[in-house]
Amino acid sequence: MIDLQIQSSLTDPSLLVDTAYINGQWCSAKDDATIDVINPSSKKIIATVPDLTVDQVRQAINDANTAWKTWKSSPATERATKLANWYQLMMDNQDDLARIMTLEQGKPLQESKGEITYAASFIKWFAEEARRINGETHPAPTSDRRLMTVKQPVGVCAAITPWNFPAAMITRKCAPAIAAGCTILVKPADLTPLSALALAVLADRAGIPAGVFNVVTGNAKSIGETFTSSEIIRKLTFTGSTKVGSLLMAQSAPTVKRLSLELGGNAPFIVFEDADIDEAVSGLMISKFRNAGQTCVCANRVLVHDKIYDRFTDSLVNAVRTLKVGDGFAENVTIGPLINENAVAKVRAHIEDSLQKGASIAYGEIPSGDDLFVTPTILRDVTTDMLPATEETFGPLAPLIRFHTDEEALKIANETPYGLGAYYYTQNLKRAWHVGENLEFGMIGLNSGVISMDSSPFGGIKLSGVGREGSNLGIEEYLEVKAWHIGSL
Ligand code: NAP
Repeated sequence: MIDLQIQSSLTDPSLLVDTAYINGQWCSAKDDATIDVINPSSKKIIATVPDLTVDQVRQAINDANTAWKTWKSSPATERATKLANWYQLMMDNQDDLARIMTLEQGKPLQESKGEITYAASFIKWFAEEARRINGETHPAPTSDRRLMTVKQPVGVCAAITPWNFPAAMITRKCAPAIAAGCTILVKPADLTPLSALALAVLADRAGIPAGVFNVVTGNAKSIGETFTSSEIIRKLTFTGSTKVGSLLMAQSAPTVKRLSLELGGNAPFIVFEDADIDEAVSGLMISKFRNAGQTCVCANRVLVHDKIYDRFTDSLVNAVRTLKVGDGFAENVTIGPLINENAVAKVRAHIEDSLQKGASIAYGEIPSGDDLFVTPTILRDVTTDMLPATEETFGPLAPLIRFHTDEEALKIANETPYGLGAYYYTQNLKRAWHVGENLEFGMIGLNSGVISMDSSPFGGIKLSGVGREGSNLGIEEYLEVKAWHIGSL
């Protein structure tokens, strides 16, 4: 079921589909079971998508395996061309894709457009990388032998993706897989399957063969178990919470699958006494409030040196005052609704816990009731025993923690089991090196609130996961190295 009024508001209504995409076919669930897709802004059902049966998912895996047998030996130029077509189709349809994203996810339309461009950039990048999968030769121990390595696709892959970046988390996984010669099945988040299905429409138009890119919708637990227990699927790539990532890791152990896990974070954002305060505030506004604070690399703990604490707080309050909360389609809105009531409850719990332990509100308010529109809030005098310091908030809350020395800042920053993103602002070269070398995170931004782009490796350490996406490293996650010994020459 699709809301026909919404469908007709698109330039190309055929991009909004309500069926899964398996082996080049559009299909409903065998028993016609469906899952509702809800617009978080209006809380109205905008579509339903199939709740596929386990048998249908198993069949999809078999079909992807059949497709792999041909795709794995397709010429690199063919893979590159088809991915380049897909990229171009995304760019040609970016306005419609952005509208679909704002409808199901809630983020402001301008941000959705930004995500579509960002998502498409990974397809372009890996279209280019497809032609650079190079092997090596190695010195052999005797003169009658030769030794070399070739790289080959790992096989059929499965991807499970979250709702906060409904397009980019898919292209960042599927583009390198397809470029490497793998086939892939994606299970998008139940909350945001329409963006994934729109990408499937375009993949089909781009000439990506049947069975190479598939979108299966349905019950997360059951699809996860079907993927992880499958002997055919050789690699699982997951973006989401650490809790589910670690469960999938355990489930994948009996079949010893390759894994990429992009999990939760708890990013510190450190503002040293010599920082350019205007730059630091601008960086924090991007890092903290993009997607209403619902990103894994969001600044979660803002550490500010005692000497500039009040000045920084005032500047930040002035900047946050300019944010406008509302429906993602409304003019000038910069913060959309949070994804659901649980997300609002978490922000509320973090504020209340901090206030009880001695923090105060510098700007904003405690979210009330079930309203998904949450005022961006700044807390001052936050300490390391309060909830925002220990857990990912995943909402528009900036907790300001005071520090006095570099070592204290580093200690607080690293005092987390997570290790995804970290940010720091300083003009001092010696401090910049020392802090950068000692931050225990997969990605760090020095005087920058942006740490994610196609050309840079994205990924974390510790409880934030394993593996890297994007950059020259991203495609390696979908390749096996085969050592080839040649004797008797
Ligand atoms: P989540 O609850 O872990 O869900 C992520 C995906 O896993 C969804 O598709 C979900 O399906 C599925 N899932 C849930 N339970 C499952 C199970 N038992 N077996 C198999 N799949 C299961 O995470 P989320 O709330 O959507 O996303 C927020 C989290 O993702 C945050 O912690 C954030 O930091 C992290 N994240 C990390 C990165 C990164 O690159 N490191 C990027 C973005 C987000 P359903 O939606 O159908 O339940």
